[in-house]
Formats: sequence, structure tokens, C-alpha cells
Amino acid sequence: MDELTEFRGNLLDWFSKHRRDLPWRRTADPYAIWISEIMLQQTRVAAVIPYYERFLERFPTIDALACAEESELLAHWAGLGYYYRARNLQKAAQAMRAHGGFPTTYAEIRRLPGVGDYTASAVASIAFALPHAVLDGNVLRVLSRVDEDATNIASLPGRKHFAQLANAKLDGTRPGAFNQAMMELGATVCLPGNPQCLLCPVARLCRARASGRQRELPVKLVERRSVEEHRTVFWIERRGSVLLWQREASSRLMPGFWELPEQAHVSGLLAGRKLGSFRHAITFHNYRFDLVETQPPDAIGSCRWVALDTLASLPLSTVLRKAKRIADRRPIRNESAVAGTNG
Ligand code: SF4
Repeated sequence: MDELTEFRGNLLDWFSKHRRDLPWRRTADPYAIWISEIMLQQTRVAAVIPYYERFLERFPTIDALACAEESELLAHWAGLGYYYRARNLQKAAQAMRAHGGFPTTYAEIRRLPGVGDYTASAVASIAFALPHAVLDGNVLRVLSRVDEDATNIASLPGRKHFAQLANAKLDGTRPGAFNQAMMELGATVCLPGNPQCLLCPVARLCRARASGRQRELPVKLVERRSVEEHRTVFWIERRGSVLLWQREASSRLMPGFWELPEQAHVSGLLAGRKLGSFRHAITFHNYRFDLVETQPPDAIGSCRWVALDTLASLPLSTVLRKAKRIADRRPIRNESAVAGTNG
């Protein structure tokens, strides 16, 4: 038996024996399954159960929901929160009523108000046995651990990657049970901080368990938006030397590297001429530097004059190296800039 067949078989066998008895698992009615999936979108299983039962008792069909008074609908939802979900349910029920019943394809289900990829896959697979894999936090965790896959689950490419993986693993003959089994495994065994590997039906096939990396997975790196910043550095020459400052040897960032001065490093700077601009990115900062050539200032603070012909042997920051390439391309050397005597 190949690994994938064994994985599906072990998982489905385990699910048939250990699945929790939940009210929406006792029905094949797409309407009831859809109601449960909408309720479960932002609410825990235990909290949903009484609401689900009361709601279906009062609104047992598409027609009953479509024709309900909004005040009564919201009264039956009160306590579940996120009331837009109840309003979307009714809008969807009214659309179904107008179109002759519950939609039977993934695309039609996905178009219902309040239904995203996850809910459409869950309803399509559980109610209609259509081969669409669900992807929620539980499934992502199981997938990343079983395959020891460190792709970032918080990134868009990462989500696409795991969606493909989930569909590749899906048992097309029993997609509804398979999807529920994956979610159940994540919710009850493959727990975020404390995976119960000894109880896991796919432990023999789990690469993270074999390497002991279960707790390191999945990888979730929240992408931060980059910050744009505009800065000016000065190119100041005097008799074959250029004015620079050196980072402390104890600096966390590039210790001992040489940098070009900015306004704060010197005093008495005269207006100069702009030689060019360049970009430089550090972690989440996108800098745009203007390089301005000017004459030696009144006071050079902690800067030093460094001979131009020694630069090649010194540790220069990337910003300085980029600036130097622009300075080296100057069409006409500014003679006045080398005539100062400060420092
Ligand atoms: S063996 Fe452990 S880490 Fe791997 S899927 Fe099972 S519970 Fe999760």
C-alpha cells in the first residue's frame, strides 16, 4: 500500500470510530449542514450546538428562513454574535427560494452571501460528496506536520500551496468524511502546543513526528507592511578624503562599518547639489536616499576624514557603497568641495 492510500485509510478508519457525535453530523440535509457551517465560522463547537438546534426547530427549511421576520431571526441568533451572518443566511435563503432550492455545485454554493472558500468546500463535500478539500487552521496544522512542510501558512502563496496539498491528499471517494476527519484530527489530537502523537492514526506517516519537529510547525510569520522613508546622505570631499563616520564596535547593526554623514552628524552644512538617488531596504523599511554633494561643514562631530584611496580596504555599509558608485560617476568634479580646511 502506498503512503497516501495508507494515510487516507488510517484517517477515515479512526474518524469512523472516534468522531464526536455532533447534531449536524446526523443529517444529510444540505440546508442544515450549511446552517451549521455558518454558525461554526466564528464560534466554538460547544457554543454552537444549542443555537443550531433551536434555530432549525424554528426555521427548518429554506422557505421558513427566507420568510422570517428579521426581528425573530436576530432573536434566534442573539448570543452568537456577528449578526451579519444571520442576515446573510436570510439573503441566501431568499436567493435559493427564487432559484428553486439549495444549489448543488461548488461554484453556486460559493456565490451565496456569506460563503467563502472554506464554507463552500465544507458544504459541497459533506452534503454533495464533491471533491473539494477544506483548509482551516486545524487542517493547515496537520498538513504542515505530516509533510514536515515549513511553508509560511500566513502568506498568500503559503495558503495556495497548502490548498493544493489538501486537495492532493483528499480522498475523492469520501470527501465529506475525509474533510471532517482532517479537521477532527487537528481539533482533538494534533493540538497546537501539545500534539497527542501517541494517539494519532497517522503517526507512522508523520515526518514532523519522525524528526521531532511537531511543535515547530506550522510556521506562521505575519507579514508586516513595509515602511517607506526618505533620507539624505552627504558626500563631502576635501583634499582626496571623504567625510565618514564609523559605527561602534559594540553596535548591534553592522559593527565597525563606515557610513556617510546625515544632517544630524555634522553642523553648519551648506546647501549642495544632488548627485542622485538610490533605494535600500532593511527588514521592513524601504529607504529612498538622496545623495547630496556639499562643502565641508563648520564642525564634523564624530566624523572623520578618510582617504578615498583607502576605502577599498575598509568595511563600507551598503548605503555607502551605493552612494560611492553614484559619486564616482559624477561628470564634473566639484573643485570647490575639495578646497575646505575644516577638521
Ligand atoms: S503524529 Fe503528532 S504531529 Fe503528526 S499528525 Fe499526528 S498528532 Fe500531529
